[in-house]
Amino acid sequence: MRLFLRPPLRRHGILAFDLDGTLYDNAAYIRFQEESQVRRLADFLCLSYDEAGARIRRIRQHRKEGGLPPTSLANIFRELGVPFDLIVRWRQEEFHPSNWLSQDGALFESLSSLKNFYILGIITNNPHAVAEQSLKALGIFDLFNIIIALDDTYRSKPDPAPFKMLLKETQAQPRDCFVIGDRYDIDIEPALAEGMNGILVDSVKDLYILPQILLP
Ligand SMILES: [Mg+2]
Repeated sequence: MRLFLRPPLRRHGILAFDLDGTLYDNAAYIRFQEESQVRRLADFLCLSYDEAGARIRRIRQHRKEGGLPPTSLANIFRELGVPFDLIVRWRQEEFHPSNWLSQDGALFESLSSLKNFYILGIITNNPHAVAEQSLKALGIFDLFNIIIALDDTYRSKPDPAPFKMLLKETQAQPRDCFVIGDRYDIDIEPALAEGMNGILVDSVKDLYILPQILLP
């Protein structure tokens, strides 16, 4: 875990969690998500699965060579000409969180104690319906006050739009917001750019000890 905190630390405010790879660890599900979307992209572009994968790798390589940070799969799909509503629909059709995720009692306990001092939210690059299903599968849906999903802004992190929407919807000051995620370039860097705090996690186990850091 790496902390990017703005002193003085005020132990109240908004905790905005990334979802996939942050609120659960499931490498097979994360892999399935990318592979299923590459399959849909291949159909859309009339390419083989391998050719579609090569197009994605080429864009990632170009960004690297141009000194640009990594971006989301949705943003790469936009570069390849996929309309945003299709990106949302493909995810809604392919992702069934209850097949992959189960209740996490330790996570529920940790988030419940944090909820005494903070408003809990989600900022995710998955569609709203998928986010709700994921939180329900994990047994933590009722703890969250706000979900900002791909089809709420039609922008994908690291685009600043979902972070700005969080500030607008909650009327919070950036220094009172903590964005918690598993990818620095996608989750943390854009939060810091808005003046928020960032917490980069290695696994969901880091969330179990978050109360030790964030509670008075
Ligand atoms: Mg993530």
